[in-house]
Amino acid sequence: MALIVHKYGGTSMGSTERIRNVAKRVAKWARAGHQMVVVPSAMSGETNRLLGLAKELAPGKTADDYNRELDMLAATGEQASSALLAIALQAEGMQAVSYAGWQVQVKTDSAFTKARIESIDDARVRADLEAGKVVVITGFQGVDEAGNITTLGRGGSDTSAVAIAAAMKAHECLIYTDVDGVYTTDPRVEPDARRLTTVSFEEMLEMASLGSKVLQIRSVEFAGKYRVPLRVLSSFTPWDIDLKEEAKSGTLITFEEDENMEQAVVSGIAFNRDEAKISVLGVPDKPGIAYHILGAVADANVEVDVIIQNLSKDGRTDFSFTVHRNDYAKTIDLLKEKVLPTLGAADIVGDTKICKVSIVGIGMRSHVGVASKMFRVLSEEGINIQMISTSEIKTSVVIDEKYMELAVRALHKAFDLDQPAA
Ligand code: ADP
Ligand code: ASP
Ligand code: MG
Repeated sequence: MALIVHKYGGTSMGSTERIRNVAKRVAKWARAGHQMVVVPSAMSGETNRLLGLAKELAPGKTADDYNRELDMLAATGEQASSALLAIALQAEGMQAVSYAGWQVQVKTDSAFTKARIESIDDARVRADLEAGKVVVITGFQGVDEAGNITTLGRGGSDTSAVAIAAAMKAHECLIYTDVDGVYTTDPRVEPDARRLTTVSFEEMLEMASLGSKVLQIRSVEFAGKYRVPLRVLSSFTPWDIDLKEEAKSGTLITFEEDENMEQAVVSGIAFNRDEAKISVLGVPDKPGIAYHILGAVADANVEVDVIIQNLSKDGRTDFSFTVHRNDYAKTIDLLKEKVLPTLGAADIVGDTKICKVSIVGIGMRSHVGVASKMFRVLSEEGINIQMISTSEIKTSVVIDEKYMELAVRALHKAFDLDQPAA
């Protein structure tokens, strides 16, 4: 008997029919003798619907202006789906109970809409498990020190599930979703994408941070920190397939490099359309410039991603960086107000129609020429590279958004990702 955490995403919880299927699957695991904790997302579309209502009622405001209430609102989506799942489990003849994050408690900091989990009190959940109940815990939410409901950022139910698995020292955390594992790239963009049977933790971390939304980045961080065995698999297989077969399906995130691991130089391609580029033009080229610009941005709590400074000409240079699109307008306003006058720069311009495409692979460590192959492939497709950023196991480029699919497909083919790994 083992303690297992299942997480079901929005599409998997998308209708009463699907919730019934989830209940049957969970009941199968419980009847096989496992202690089950289940973490559902809101039903698909629900979080967007709720956030849309808020936007309608607050024209001209940004989410930052009412983020406490946004969390109060958005958390209801998971509360509803959790209660529905517990009801469906009971209808299957199981003992089941659902809890909101604050009831467990899942304690977070107070950064509304992007809170971080600080601790989880598992006493109540353990008592229920010992009493033979299936425990359903809302994904995506927690409670801060002052008792406010918080949420963990979009896609945060993954993080709830892994954090709960870590706190409870679960045997495994299974992330059930609408694809049957982690692919070489998003199968919706590249139909020839291939499922990976294993992916290393480091690669998964890069892929998640570079935009592969199959797992929220913080869930991967948690899995790494607490060594939570983590698997991504499909919720769309028939619920009554053999449990042992199901337990081996999908993609396992591995922590050790072993001989079974796929040895490709590039393992996957990620892309991200959530960023925007900002350029400060005609900046005097002298010490302290990066600090002057980016310090002001950091003070406003805006995260900066790719940065580039051009060669100077006549003592002046251009300085560009990317931020999340949600922070774009705020950052431009801030720079115009605080940095332009004091820095003596010529102008500030921006571009929201960009995307970042990245190749990821631990094999890149030991192979030279991988980045240059990427640049060659893009040039052969006539795609202009605006910015580049590299690390040991990834190379990212910022390009015009309209070339995203072309770039992903060309790179996927050039790096033989459609072929089984050697
Ligand atoms: P859930 O609602 O279950 O959390 P998400 O929509 O958050 O599901 O994540 C699953 C989606 O992630 C898939 O439908 C797929 O389009 C997308 N995705 C992006 N990159 C990848 C990848 N490398 N492998 C698999 N899916 C990916
Ligand atoms: N419901 C939340 C969202 O749509 C959290 C999640 O699904 O993981 O982002
Ligand atoms: Mg998700």
